[in-house]
Amino acid sequence: MNIKLRVEKVFKIFGSRPNEALNLLKRGESKEAIFQATGQTIGVQDASFDVLEGQIFVIMGLSGSGKSTMVRMLNGLIRPTSGKILIDGDDVASCSAAKLRDIRRNKITMVFQHFALFPHRTILENAAFGLKVKGVPQSERQAQAMAALEQVGLASWANSKPADLSGGMQQRVGLARGLATNPEILLMDEPFGALDPLIRREMQDELLALQSALKKTIIFITHDLNEALLLGDKIAIMKDGRVVQIGTAQDIVSNPADDYVAAFVADIDRGRVFTAETVASVPSVMQLDTDTAGDAVRRMEDENLNAVYVMDGEDLAGLVTYQLAAVADRDSGDDDVKLADVMVTDYPTTDRDTQLSALYGAASAGLPIAITDDDNRLLGVVEPEAVFAQISADQVEAETPEAAQAEAQMGTQEGGAR
Ligand code: ADP
Ligand code: MG
Repeated sequence: MNIKLRVEKVFKIFGSRPNEALNLLKRGESKEAIFQATGQTIGVQDASFDVLEGQIFVIMGLSGSGKSTMVRMLNGLIRPTSGKILIDGDDVASCSAAKLRDIRRNKITMVFQHFALFPHRTILENAAFGLKVKGVPQSERQAQAMAALEQVGLASWANSKPADLSGGMQQRVGLARGLATNPEILLMDEPFGALDPLIRREMQDELLALQSALKKTIIFITHDLNEALLLGDKIAIMKDGRVVQIGTAQDIVSNPADDYVAAFVADIDRGRVFTAETVASVPSVMQLDTDTAGDAVRRMEDENLNAVYVMDGEDLAGLVTYQLAAVADRDSGDDDVKLADVMVTDYPTTDRDTQLSALYGAASAGLPIAITDDDNRLLGVVEPEAVFAQISADQVEAETPEAAQAEAQMGTQEGGAR
């Protein structure tokens, strides 16, 4: 994938004497100490990262960590004190005013925290607002806004007023307003920050669904780590203007870069960060035509397994449990028992991207879960213990085994509802 946006050694100092602050920074002084000494505020310090085309890149950090400052620089609203911001290779930080206007008109659009719909205008007019600001002629605005409303599933509400729509639908109008200008890069600064948790969850799912069709480059700002982990293909964590860690959700949760990140990670829902793939192991398989129940029993005894998969050539045909195979093999005396006679075909399956929280139920049944692709090929296996081990990875030490077990059982009961 192409690099759509590159941030290179960017600093932003607020105040009239930035060099003084920069010098202190180079000497290792803290943001707080520099403010005390000089009155200059460090907005962003030494930030570098790449955003790939089609990626959701999340910038996450507490209030005051520099997220909005970063976004305003990406957008060319404010200029960095030093460093480069390259969009398709053009440096927003140093290009001409005309070039910047062109980039802001054609490449990059901001979706604001409060979508601020106009109550007396129709949904269509609201969706067209960004186009008006960008100077698109009236005749084109209508069609483009309508297309954006179609993308977010609100075309039939075009002539309604905002008050006729639910909160979640109003958010989608805000999204349509951003999409109407058909930007290559969408900047979203805490767009769901003011929503109640249920609508927020809905909007997160909506954004992911939309993105799987649109494949825009999205820079998404949030102070909520769970939101970051859910949405981000890549996540940058900021503290005091500095990027302290960049990685995938799994990178960050498995290997927090420092105590600051570790503190965030401590209370996230691991079942929603890790996927089937992350706990997969290599399955043991038998061949339907050539192996017998007895072969399967010996294999399971050798490898200390409760079950093995049965393959029909390249295709997954079924699962044989130790119990069924051993009983049939014993009862048959000297005759071979065919695998077809002892295998079950309603074994649990999943795809590689399924969240572990959705596998609690199947895992607690004690059977392995087959990871399959669309062609019913067996890609790997999730052993039930692996699910619970990954979910409770950092709780084991903190709590008694009884508490951890109780928690695992609770997770099982709630598994379907999550
Ligand atoms: P966030 O969006 O992560 O909450 P901001 O980017 O808004 O953080 O702020 C980062 C730091 O820069 C904060 O210390 C803030 O007070 C400071 N800051 C932001 N904008 C300005 C400004 N225009 N003038 C002075 N300081 C600012
Ligand atoms: Mg902010």
